Amino acid sequence: MATVTLDQLRKVYPNGFEAVKPCSFRIEDGEFLVLVGPSGCGKSTLLRMVAGLEEITEGELSIGERVVNTVDPADRDIAMVFQNYALYPHMTVRKNIGYGLKNRRTPAAEIAAKVEEAARMLNLTDYLDRKPAQLSGGQRQRVAMGRAIVRDPALFLFDEPLSNLDAKLRNQMRIEIKALQRRLGVTAIYVTHDQVEAMTMADRIVVLNCGRIEQIGTPSEIYHQP
Ligand code: ADP
Ligand code: ADP
Repeated sequence: MATVTLDQLRKVYPNGFEAVKPCSFRIEDGEFLVLVGPSGCGKSTLLRMVAGLEEITEGELSIGERVVNTVDPADRDIAMVFQNYALYPHMTVRKNIGYGLKNRRTPAAEIAAKVEEAARMLNLTDYLDRKPAQLSGGQRQRVAMGRAIVRDPALFLFDEPLSNLDAKLRNQMRIEIKALQRRLGVTAIYVTHDQVEAMTMADRIVVLNCGRIEQIGTPSEIYHQP
């Protein structure tokens, strides 16, 4: 598990556009934090800075006790789940889930065991030998989750993971993701433009608007104001 601390984190793109104005907040161990706001408000940029996929212009980012501003994405103890799943089409579900571990030179038997365990948690055991094209949208999203889980990260990052699913499946996956995060006890940052997702999944919500924090609070503080 991990805390995450953003201290005056700021992003200016090379074209001079300030996508994230100095932002400060702290995410507690095991907390599920949702970053919500309209399209273009800087959610993705903020998440990508935490992931190490986007350079930090100013400010300090810590995961646990460690300042990670210049730490490689692979060394940040994070796993990320994307909207478009980012699965390899030519690989089976088994290979897709185990892929990140293979890069880390984990012994084959250990990879196999971890993949089986993740597949059990995600109801994918019967699909391990299929390719992504032979899966439903929900199953693909589960494979993407499996790939994240086997890395055993301190921090889960989700970038609009459910936007490509229909409403019914979205409801179901919301519940599944939340249950899994609880079960693993892992800290999570979840980006969405969907207020229902924010309200139902978050321990705390950060509302972004035009690159600035508009509100921080629990779902009831944010959505049930007089
Ligand atoms: P969100 O995830 O909330 O939709 P983004 O973080 O993707 O928002 O984008 C925030 C703002 O930064 C948007 O106005 C977007 O057009 C702009 N932006 C994103 N990437 C770049 C880039 N590489 N160069 C310049 N501006 C960018
Ligand atoms: P190595 O020792 O080869 O550097 P890493 O710890 O860097 O091994 O992990 C291997 C790769 O797995 C990383 O480059 C990372 O981008 C990738 N990876 C696979 N799945 C994920 C995921 N869900 N989230 C983040 N990175 C992932």
